[in-house]
Amino acid sequence: MSKPRYVPVRQCMGCREHKPKAELIRVVRSPAGEVSLDATGRKPGRGVYLCQDPACRKRVAKSRALERALAAPIPAEVQQTLDVLAGTAKA
Ligand SMILES: [Zn+2]
Repeated sequence: MSKPRYVPVRQCMGCREHKPKAELIRVVRSPAGEVSLDATGRKPGRGVYLCQDPACRKRVAKSRALERALAAPIPAEVQQTLDVLAGTAKA
């Protein structure tokens, strides 16, 4: 007998759709208040999620929704990585 596979889902901040956690990028604010990207999904702290859709990343980057959701400033390197992921980075 095999158990049904449990797939954790999270809501993307950009499109508000629920998607498998593995397909989302996690941005986490550590208990110390430091914001970073969490590729493993295991860092402690408060996390928000973004899906792979560049439109979502653009929307979130523009609206500063991340800053508001995490109530913390987004470090330049995190913003830069998001820009690269969103395809809006100036090369
Ligand atoms: Zn999305």
